[in-house]
Amino acid sequence: MRKPIMAGNWKMFKTEIEAVDFCAKLKPLINDVSNITILICPSFPALPKVWDEIKDSKMALGAQNLHWEEEGAFTGEVSAAMLKCVGCSYVIIGHSERRQYFGETDVTVHKKLLAALKHNLSPIVCIGETLEQRDKNETFKVIETQVKGAFHGIDVKHWDNIVIAYEPVWAIGTGKTATPEQAQEVHAFIRGLLPAEVAPKTRILYGGSVKPENVKELMAKPDIDGGLVGGAALKIESFEKLIKY
Ligand code: PEP
Repeated sequence: MRKPIMAGNWKMFKTEIEAVDFCAKLKPLINDVSNITILICPSFPALPKVWDEIKDSKMALGAQNLHWEEEGAFTGEVSAAMLKCVGCSYVIIGHSERRQYFGETDVTVHKKLLAALKHNLSPIVCIGETLEQRDKNETFKVIETQVKGAFHGIDVKHWDNIVIAYEPVWAIGTGKTATPEQAQEVHAFIRGLLPAEVAPKTRILYGGSVKPENVKELMAKPDIDGGLVGGAALKIESFEKLIKY
């Protein structure tokens, strides 16, 4: 049985004060929730204070990126150990915005995955095709390349910690959601690419304009194990509805 995850990726939104305020207000609303992992991924500066606010709650903390090296002269970067130290148990890797704007590739995704696993952080590895690739019928080829690029050589013992997020790039922040059937088709394909012994237990999240109006249908699909949510995770009312889908 795969426990679903509802993850809020706050991107470059919310100051520390706003982030803590959000969590303080959400906390009492989710007291009775136990069947889903609720994950908050704020910006780096907000992590310590958000952790103070949520550490005794139903929420877990994640970061949006990390560097693969242990430490060193890498101005502006943050290591896995640093994230661990401020309460993170998850880290998003290879989000399409990082691939698009910051030169993230399957090679860097793989190195970041190794760093996260070494420090016992659960990586949420994002994969997904662009609209152009979908229109050219390249979706499955692209997904297969990304899965192989990220996960080659990963020992099966690590897979309990690994989460995958299928995020079609054309659906992120656009209001356009993949239909539940489109998403399910790719999720099943991704699961089929994983080692047989880990495939049934690996959580695969869907991301791309998940909102209260479509969450139920998406979550009803057999291979969709949760959501990685941007816009709808920024407001308490909508994030609460997603958590309680
Ligand atoms: C995301 O940030 O990963 C995302 C899917 O954003 P949105 O929900 O706004 O499309």
